[in-house]
Amino acid sequence: MNNNKSIAHELRTPLTIIKAQIDVLNTQENAGIEDYQSTLKVIERTVLKMSNLLDTLLEIDPSKNRLDELLNMEEIIQDVIEDLGVLAAQKNIQLSYSIKNSPQTYGNSILMYRCLYNLAENAIKYNQCGGKVEIQCESCQKKYCIRILDNGIGIPSDELDLIFKPYYQCSKNQDGIGLGLALVQSIVSMHQGEIQVRSEMNQGSQFILSFPQLKKENMTV
Ligand code: ADP
Repeated sequence: MNNNKSIAHELRTPLTIIKAQIDVLNTQENAGIEDYQSTLKVIERTVLKMSNLLDTLLEIDPSKNRLDELLNMEEIIQDVIEDLGVLAAQKNIQLSYSIKNSPQTYGNSILMYRCLYNLAENAIKYNQCGGKVEIQCESCQKKYCIRILDNGIGIPSDELDLIFKPYYQCSKNQDGIGLGLALVQSIVSMHQGEIQVRSEMNQGSQFILSFPQLKKENMTV
């Protein structure tokens, strides 16, 4: 993931696309409003991709990896649900959460937010219109568990181990770059947790994260 060449390549590709789109428009003599609109759409989508990539790279910066905050898991999950509301509404997807006994644990709230955001965003992206996505959080004694459930397209069983590899995508899609789950995995291990995936094609997927409830002194880096 910290391979400068592949990061530079990932940033150069969208820049090349933007430059090419502008060049085409500049050389088109009778460009109309529709040409401008479709060019803007491509540029907008490409900028969004770049900005997602930068978010990903910035949050993996070790100087930002303080792990000694008391996590308010309900607030983190509510933020994720709120921030993904528009995306879910566009596909008429029902996005909900439930919490049974909030965990008392330490970690990094920005990274935990990003981890749950990436999983819930995938659950929406790889779902049909009218689908369902739920985030469940439950804690008992010294552990807590967060499940992200969807009834979407599913993941082929022979690819379940591969999806966490940087840049891996089951099928090439326009909005992703294949780094989301690699980041999820590093955030989960930073919080000393484990991740399991269960999935059935055309039925849906479950990402199950289990963590120890950590004390502040265990988490200071
Ligand atoms: P991407 O940027 O492609 O979404 P990720 O690392 O987040 O990259 O995910 C890797 C691949 O795993 C995705 O391209 C997709 O094929 C598959 N995937 C991830 N989450 C789900 C899900 N909830 N349902 C179906 N497929 C998924």
